[in-house]
Amino acid sequence: MSQTIVQKFGGTSVGDTTKIKNVANRIKTYHDDGKNVAVVVSAMGKTTDELVDLADQITQNPPKREMDMLLSTGEQVSISLLAMALNEVGVPAISFTGFQIKVKTDGNHSNAKIESIERRRIDEAFAEGKVVIIAGFQGIDTNENITTLGRGGSDTTAVAVAAALGADECEIYTDVNGVYTTDPRKVPEAKMHKQITYEEMLELASLGAGVLHSRSVEMAMNFGVTIHVRSSFHSEPGTLVVSEEKIMENMRVSGVTVKSDQARVTIPDVKDQPGIAAELFHALSEKDIIVDVIVQSSPHDGVNTISFTIAKKDVNSAKPILESIKDKLSGRDIEIDEDIAILSAVGVGMKSHVGVASQMFQALAKVGINILMISTSEIKISCVIPQTRANEGLKAVHDIFELEKVGS
Ligand code: ADP
Ligand code: ASP
Ligand code: MG
Repeated sequence: MSQTIVQKFGGTSVGDTTKIKNVANRIKTYHDDGKNVAVVVSAMGKTTDELVDLADQITQNPPKREMDMLLSTGEQVSISLLAMALNEVGVPAISFTGFQIKVKTDGNHSNAKIESIERRRIDEAFAEGKVVIIAGFQGIDTNENITTLGRGGSDTTAVAVAAALGADECEIYTDVNGVYTTDPRKVPEAKMHKQITYEEMLELASLGAGVLHSRSVEMAMNFGVTIHVRSSFHSEPGTLVVSEEKIMENMRVSGVTVKSDQARVTIPDVKDQPGIAAELFHALSEKDIIVDVIVQSSPHDGVNTISFTIAKKDVNSAKPILESIKDKLSGRDIEIDEDIAILSAVGVGMKSHVGVASQMFQALAKVGINILMISTSEIKISCVIPQTRANEGLKAVHDIFELEKVGS
């Protein structure tokens, strides 16, 4: 039986028709090799941003269903053009939308989760010797409404297709050579990893490393799919995302990230009583608002201060909820600071090394960056810092862990 391979090309890789033709030539080499090739494609270049802008010119409050209907159109353009480009170089190809291969999701518009994919039409196309081109980022809910998977979600479509087809590897072609110790556009000294664990990659992706959609990593881990992040501009290998057992040496810190789309909410003088925190966070979760870092000060005179971070996009929906329970909590005014960033260091080796947190704090102290909040897990340390110092902090932490020496 032919080997099946899944390849995903991101927006920059299909940014114009010349790039689409290059992608077609690359796919051709795999097809000529006798492989079954399924290709997942993102919208061309900045198309999705432009579609968001169009909606913005009409309303600040678009119905989520219509927003998904709009954003899903970008991928329909790129899949058809790529199928044409393949046919042009003599490779039979057929494109499919999420609807056509039944990428079934839950009904959570703009952040839907894939539940299943039907492989019948993909298998039929393979049997006819065709390359299959699939629109990333989109699915359908139980009522056949179009849903989208969240920005960057084509990676997740690709891994889901790989899992559905039982492919061993999912290649994610992008505009950098692989996964680096931090965003190479922000810190030019960043080094590429040859391999990284699912666990670390999942943390890095959730904490702001935009190179992979975090849900794609979660899915790859659950289904044992190896992800290969590599450049669409040359054929050198990139980074393999694999299980921990496959990696010889665990790094203390393997990556540093910064997340700038967050806001800090501070509630002063909260009554020091059982049930208060439960009430506050229950009210937020009822409205699907995800809370990240939470810090509560020790009580003094029967009150304490609770601070937590939420996504900036949720600030407007959080405000009325907080106002409605304000009197029960404290009565004092609630402060919201949108000028913050979450700076994090990640590494599976943290489980067995001491002193990593203190080194990170020293790096920030040395450049005079004030830490507003701290949160840790087994393999990560996060510090909330002022947004204006984010890139400086990123560089300082990257330096202290000598990440520029990775791989050398
Ligand atoms: P695509 O359109 O191919 O999906 P993305 O823009 O989503 O591409 O992801 C690639 C970008 O991710 C890179 O251009 C880079 O700036 C950014 N990035 C952030 N963190 C990292 C990291 N740790 N390693 C590599 N790239 C990163
Ligand atoms: N086109 C979508 C976006 O820009 C999905 C993706 O590129 O992965 O977010
Ligand atoms: Mg992406």
